[in-house]
Amino acid sequence: MKYVNLANLQTVLRPGIVAVGLLALAACERSVEVSREAPSDDATNHEVGAPPHWGYAGDGGPDNWGGLSEDYASCAIGIAQSPIDLTQPGLASDIALSVDYASGPLEIFNNGHTVQINFAPGSTMNNGEKDYALLQLHFHTPSEHTVDQVRFPLEAHFVHRADDGGLGVIGVLFEEGAHNDALNPVLATLPQDVSEPRKIAFNPSDLLPENLSVYRYSGSLTTPPCSEGVAWHVAANVQPVSRAQLSALRAVLGDNARPVQPLNHRALSAPN
Ligand SMILES: [Zn+2]
Repeated sequence: MKYVNLANLQTVLRPGIVAVGLLALAACERSVEVSREAPSDDATNHEVGAPPHWGYAGDGGPDNWGGLSEDYASCAIGIAQSPIDLTQPGLASDIALSVDYASGPLEIFNNGHTVQINFAPGSTMNNGEKDYALLQLHFHTPSEHTVDQVRFPLEAHFVHRADDGGLGVIGVLFEEGAHNDALNPVLATLPQDVSEPRKIAFNPSDLLPENLSVYRYSGSLTTPPCSEGVAWHVAANVQPVSRAQLSALRAVLGDNARPVQPLNHRALSAPN
């Protein structure tokens, strides 16, 4: 089994849907299995060249990601990493972010690190610089980004890719409050364990705040290989999620948040 890293993202055509092999984000064996390119035998993980296991605690935890593989070096030595604490932003951006997401039959699966929904072609985002296609949506409990050092109980990441290969992510933070109807389809289909994809009918734009003003900065994937050059947009308007919904998500996701990373000399734009 060949490990597919970010340098050669593969798009695997499957009947009715494009299952995008964003393996760097989805990671480890399950993503490869989902792409149906390789047997799902656990033994494949121990082949020479297979990506090492990583997680959020112990030897495979975030502090050790950089040492698990040469491919993960950026996790340790990168200077433009994500997530970050969103505080003391510089100038406000006057560039609007816009999305045009389509609803439709999609696929949801549990890859062992998060619960992810893969999108069919046709949903797009423009960040004022270029157009991106929506690839997938996944969740972190608690949030990865913090605002003035306050961590939120849930963060959703909408991962996009531009024609030039550049990645752009929209992050949405959630705080405990009212029941969020937009999460109903996710929770109704939530794969409890590492799973084959299941069908889900879902409109991703339902999860976004109406006012899409965002913090912007240049960062990285928040999971190995922690590749940099990712255009980050974190919505300033926080969305609600009920205690019961959080419990259900946490029960499946556990703690899958990377600690915040130093801003270093990067520009952080305030919400416009
Ligand atoms: Zn993420």
